[in-house]
Amino acid sequence: MKETNADGVTYFSAPEWDERPEVVHAFFTRNGGVSSDPYASLNMGQKGGDKRSHTRENLKRAARSLSIPVKGIFCASQIHGDWIHRVSGGEASIFGTADPLQGDGLVTSDRGLYVGILTADCVPLLLLDPGRRVVGAVHAGWRGTAQGIAGKAVGTMCATFGCEASHLLVAIGPAIGPCCYVVGDEVARAFVGRDAENEPFLHPEGSGQWKLNLEAVNRHQLINAGIEPGHITSSSLCTSCRKDLFFSVRAEGEPTGRQISLIGLRPRQGHD
Ligand SMILES: [Zn+2]
Repeated sequence: MKETNADGVTYFSAPEWDERPEVVHAFFTRNGGVSSDPYASLNMGQKGGDKRSHTRENLKRAARSLSIPVKGIFCASQIHGDWIHRVSGGEASIFGTADPLQGDGLVTSDRGLYVGILTADCVPLLLLDPGRRVVGAVHAGWRGTAQGIAGKAVGTMCATFGCEASHLLVAIGPAIGPCCYVVGDEVARAFVGRDAENEPFLHPEGSGQWKLNLEAVNRHQLINAGIEPGHITSSSLCTSCRKDLFFSVRAEGEPTGRQISLIGLRPRQGHD
């Protein structure tokens, strides 16, 4: 993936999507914000105890780096579930809302609406149908992944907007890698119990412990949902190995910050 630094704010993006100027997408890092330790510095997390004035300023900086308005960014309150919501313009953002929408996947075809998700090890997925102009953002931690949230997001885009899975493009952002993600028997069982094909993504790591490749499970689910393997691009950066770039709950413990990943379509210019 391509790394961009705009006014001190650093983010990654899929270079394959560069030829589509109407598409805005970014996997932001932790760098370029105003929060101090343990949230230093571009923290977007609303639940962790950071100052609201800091997270607001951080969001402003992220928006400015993409030349989009802050009020166009929409995040749900994430609950490690598998709910996918269709959202439309005019809905209030989580930032400052008393009763936010709850869920871990957001899809929209509204221009000027940028759907975002927050992570600190979990897998951020951004989806794009360039023909039908539909976008999606998914938060896939182990619970959401075990529930098949990636495939459900594809299904929702197809059912709601008439997308064809084979036309969708997916970018998988920085997440905890198989180098660092050790889970116990309970988590391992949740994966293999759901789908025996998940077994290759778990590697034994001593008694009752496994290394789990969360990105590979999500890739497998996307392909099973009809996504072309060649349409999936990933960062391959591990959040736990790269604490210099990303917040990581596993590497740092709580409290720590959350980075934002977002995608949307710019409003039409002129009369096209
Ligand atoms: Zn790692």
